[in-house]
Amino acid sequence: MSRFFSKKYRDLVPYDTSGEHEAGNYIRLNTNESPFSPSPKVLERESKAAGTQNFYPDPDARELTAKVAELWGVRPEEVLLTCGSDEALSFIFMAFCDGGAAFPSITYSFYEVLAGLNNVPFETIPLSPDLSLPVERADWPSGRTLFLANPNSPTGLALPRAEVERIIQGSRDNIVVIDEAYVDFGAETCVPLIRKYDNLLVVQTFSKSRSLAGARLGLCLGQAELIRDLRTLKNSIAPYNLSGSALAAGLGALEDEKYTRDNCRTIMENRAFTAVGLRTLGFTVTNSLGNFLLARHPRFSGGELSQKLKASGILVRCYSTPEALAPYVRITIGTRKQMEALLEALKKIEEDERQ
Ligand code: PMP
Repeated sequence: MSRFFSKKYRDLVPYDTSGEHEAGNYIRLNTNESPFSPSPKVLERESKAAGTQNFYPDPDARELTAKVAELWGVRPEEVLLTCGSDEALSFIFMAFCDGGAAFPSITYSFYEVLAGLNNVPFETIPLSPDLSLPVERADWPSGRTLFLANPNSPTGLALPRAEVERIIQGSRDNIVVIDEAYVDFGAETCVPLIRKYDNLLVVQTFSKSRSLAGARLGLCLGQAELIRDLRTLKNSIAPYNLSGSALAAGLGALEDEKYTRDNCRTIMENRAFTAVGLRTLGFTVTNSLGNFLLARHPRFSGGELSQKLKASGILVRCYSTPEALAPYVRITIGTRKQMEALLEALKKIEEDERQ
């Protein structure tokens, strides 16, 4: 650390991206990306947009915002587009967390980083032994902005909309943020609840189901007043937060919703296929509704498994913290061929161990 670094940030623990971008010809099942290329419509739109990059992009992203509003069934003033959903989460931590934050003890680890960055005190909600959210909400922290990934990561477990609605009703004096990064793989969205509740924000991303992790495109939906507050921050930090190519990519993806739906269906089929294969090999697997599975084997730690799989050319995610995740690996669902390669490698690892 240089002697010039602000005192404010000296204790900051940034998000750990180590191991995410291993060089080499690996099957990448470690970062919940889509195995499918973006739709050809994305490429068409992007190449057209490339010719106008001497101009700044529209800071209000009006064309894409209108398209999102139409497809999601909300008004344009209820939508803010962001540079990945991480940026939406960042604005929310800045805007709405004066009373502190709360999130599950096992969830997307970036919430804790953002709490640290913004000096937001936080409490965690301990998960039940089966990694689900405890239904007894009387014990949950109160008076805080609640962040719930639904489906949760890395467990993949999801709450039905009616259950989320009860949580929102029980927290009317605080914002509830539902992070729906993985909602398109079989969970229920809470977007229809936006009209009813002025304390609800729903965050989504183009990174997973729409194969655009590289374009960095996220969205936040909520009542117009909340979105105006977030826009005030956006225009104070990064008025041109979305590049012309990101906006073009988003429009292209939304022109091809059939492609997205077909890919999501394939991922869900491959998820079911992989879960059966893993259970046959002795793994315990959560009932994930994300594009990933969280799995543990009685004879290997998560770290051991990920090392052995890496030696076989496959990257998966393992965890050193929190401790409860040490036995697990999180496996992104890829193509059928990739999942067959994964199961084959695991079978071999298991057989080698027996000898
Ligand atoms: N929320 C959750 C639960 C995630 O797992 C991720 C990243 N994988 C994000 C948000 C952020 O995704 P992005 O910034 O690519 O939209």
